[in-house]
Amino acid sequence: MSASAKSALKRKYRPETLLIHAGTLRSQFGETSEALFLTQGFVYDSAEQCAARFKGEEPGYLYSRFSNPTVNMFETRMAALEGAESARATASGMAAVTASLMGQLKAGDHVVAAKALFGSCRWVVEDWLPRFGVASTLVDGIKLDQWKSAVRPNTKVFFLESPTNPTLEVIDIAEVAKIAHDAGAKLVVDNVFATPLFQSPLALGADCVVYSATKHIDGQGRCLGGIILSTEKFIQDHIHQVLRQTGPSMSPFNAWVLLKGLETLSVRVHRQTDTAGVVSAALFGHPKLARLIYPGRPDHPQAAVIRKQMRAGSTLVAFEIKGDQKAAFRFLNALQLTRITNTLGDAKSLVTHPATTTHQRLTPEARAELGISDGLVRFSAGLEHPDDIVEDLLAALEAV
Ligand SMILES: *Cc1c(COP(=O)(O)O)cnc(C)c1O
Repeated sequence: MSASAKSALKRKYRPETLLIHAGTLRSQFGETSEALFLTQGFVYDSAEQCAARFKGEEPGYLYSRFSNPTVNMFETRMAALEGAESARATASGMAAVTASLMGQLKAGDHVVAAKALFGSCRWVVEDWLPRFGVASTLVDGIKLDQWKSAVRPNTKVFFLESPTNPTLEVIDIAEVAKIAHDAGAKLVVDNVFATPLFQSPLALGADCVVYSATKHIDGQGRCLGGIILSTEKFIQDHIHQVLRQTGPSMSPFNAWVLLKGLETLSVRVHRQTDTAGVVSAALFGHPKLARLIYPGRPDHPQAAVIRKQMRAGSTLVAFEIKGDQKAAFRFLNALQLTRITNTLGDAKSLVTHPATTTHQRLTPEARAELGISDGLVRFSAGLEHPDDIVEDLLAALEAV
């Protein structure tokens, strides 16, 4: 049985309600919490039933590589939240990104992507796709004319993330979708930084949305996961067979953890966004900082696009410590509460030094082009008391 957005819910509810109830499948025991179906396969009442399931003539589960009730609950809940007809969960965010691109492409095709991408996404587009005869062009995503002039007769896919990692630039999704569609291409949006609560790329014209569920959706640093959302036709044409036959499947256990994560997503992300706002206000203009970028501030370079397409700021703040890498490392090492890591969207406040972690693979020139200096720090707001976090960050800045 494939996941569909057809939820058992009897009317249209708001996102906070969907996060708790959408997609719930109750077994004959009537459990309160979603059941964890930790099984590889399923048994059938008869050989005829088994044959009918395989032919697709009878609904039901077959094998957890591509269908499992717990994973199905996660897919249906995410589809309801996103307003998508269909969804497929994957083992990680990168499995979702890779399948969403590879599922649409063949040798001879061309991809246009914004160059400000999560490091592994950029590797897939820039280094890996060309090995299979798929050419790619990277553009400055906020410059719409660059998307237009990158189009070739064989352009099949546009790919972007917004807000971008780590500099929190915001790309106009509706405008890029128009350019893609005029070129006969499909737009895939990596919506990790905005979360489904703050930005709806499908409603803005994107054809497919992908998430790393590892980030805000889990939100407590426990497991990896990813998901691809689109129309039923897109999933059937490009995604279903690729996932079914190649097997980057989400574990039912991870789906169960992520379902529990979704229940608290809105509470966490709203609180983290408030905290990110408090942090950006407290740090803005600090004499040790060269600049601070926060999508919730009116001085953000794409403030007009943000007002148009996002419902709130972000759980992330980027800022540049004056000086070199040593100054940034002194700041990171002086933090007492905020932890140094490369991930984000956790209950714990986290800092990342992109130049030596997520973007270390790029040449210094490519980093400079993206605004990733040796002093740049990405902060991800956790759930601690905001005043404790601000005090921690200010004390560490004193140490620089
Ligand atoms: C983390 C991340 C990914 C990759 O997700 P994994 O779950 O780590 O594989 C992709 N895109 C963005 C924007 C991310 O932040």
